[in-house]
Amino acid sequence: MSRRATPRERVVTVQASALETITTEVFGSAPDLETGGILLGYAASDSADLHVTVAGDPGPNALHEPRRFLRDPAHAQTLADREWADHQAVWIGEWHTHPAAGPKPSDIDLRSYLQHLEDPDLQFTEFLSLIVANTDAGPTVAAWIVTSTYLIEASLSVSECQPDR
Ligand SMILES: [Zn+2]
Repeated sequence: MSRRATPRERVVTVQASALETITTEVFGSAPDLETGGILLGYAASDSADLHVTVAGDPGPNALHEPRRFLRDPAHAQTLADREWADHQAVWIGEWHTHPAAGPKPSDIDLRSYLQHLEDPDLQFTEFLSLIVANTDAGPTVAAWIVTSTYLIEASLSVSECQPDR
């Protein structure tokens, strides 16, 4: 197995409108159950940054449990198809909440990300995970970049710029 260098620092930029979708969903959903959705956007061509342009809502057939969230695949696909057609935004990851745990991916989360990474049809080389956790200081968001060989926490920044629509 070849050794791969772990990138020292990665930046994830989230469009303010995408963060607003997440915030609206988090505050409008049952506080003791997980919720989430897909993340769409693109990798910057000139750096290692990832840009999230759209956050999906969970969809009507999502499964919400205290320690598990399963998105509605048909709903996610419809959104992904639309964003690809309109803005060439691709599926780069997912966001979900941890009402009862910290903002680190759980073993269940990591297993599902690895499944995505190993699925040749999906063509992921890395998977972005945004986790919204409840802490004593209030809700906090952490960004994680997962590959088949490492998990790193990325720094998160919010962009006010709107893409052309
Ligand atoms: Zn989780």
